[in-house]
Amino acid sequence: MTDLSALNQSHSQAARQFVATDKLFAGKVIMVTGAGDGIGRALALGLASKGANVILLGRTRQKLNEVYDQIEAAGHPQAAVVPLNLELAKPHQYNELADMLRTEFGRLDGLVHNAGQLGNITPIDQYPPDTWLSVMQVNVNAAFFLTRAMLPLLSAAPTASLVFTTSSVGRKGRAFWGAYAVSKFAVEGLTQVLADELDNMTRIRVNAINPGACHTEMRKDAYPAEDRSLLARPADILPAWYYLLADDCTANGLSLDAQVPKKP
Ligand code: NDP
Repeated sequence: MTDLSALNQSHSQAARQFVATDKLFAGKVIMVTGAGDGIGRALALGLASKGANVILLGRTRQKLNEVYDQIEAAGHPQAAVVPLNLELAKPHQYNELADMLRTEFGRLDGLVHNAGQLGNITPIDQYPPDTWLSVMQVNVNAAFFLTRAMLPLLSAAPTASLVFTTSSVGRKGRAFWGAYAVSKFAVEGLTQVLADELDNMTRIRVNAINPGACHTEMRKDAYPAEDRSLLARPADILPAWYYLLADDCTANGLSLDAQVPKKP
């Protein structure tokens, strides 16, 4: 076992057992992409319930508004809605978003790159090129653009946490998972490169999380025939994100498992 895999395992175990206190994120400004549905939606609601001002970024305005309304109705801190299609957004739009957040909040304490597209489950030789480009744009390029634009705001926070979203197929290649798997390998690479660059230079930590099988629309698209009642619900797997976003977390450059990984 390498040092890195031992660290990944020990931090994953600690992350799964992490108990977030009620006000753990009070006063924190945390952006979640793909906040309108699935894991991102559950995470946004969870962070707001623990005191964060959550910036809800996603593609479908209506879904984001519903999450916003739910946060407001519960009396949690003010959220903000940022409708942005990550497949189409240009670099200047990310800079404009950073300018807006600088004016509104002055800093960013956390950024969770959760939005993702599955693309097609199909062999590489039949993979549609347009789908390949969309998946890479949303899962990798947009995460790079957004990170690059937000780094000055993350640097302005006393400590900050960047969390990317990976998958088991981004660690070991699997037939037919095409652009999705390749994009998650790239996410693992981006996490490691950035963590190494920022280590000791800033107080920004950079890690990735593999949610594991979870009851969402994406999972249904990938495994339409499985018994969904056996799957974890998004709200059940949030301790790992809370762990990485908490101020006193020491993980950096790691790739954690939010659930106990299944035996290969
Ligand atoms: P869902 O499909 O349920 O949600 C994905 C979210 O990403 C949606 O809110 C969606 O917006 C948003 N999104 C997709 N495309 C874009 C885009 N072009 N611009 C902006 N937002 C976009 O997925 P999950 O919750 O299951 O997945 C969340 C993350 O977890 C993904 O990165 C996925 O790869 C990863 N993951 C999930 C697993 C699982 O079992 N569920 C397992 C391993 C990894 P909209 O609602 O508007 O479509």
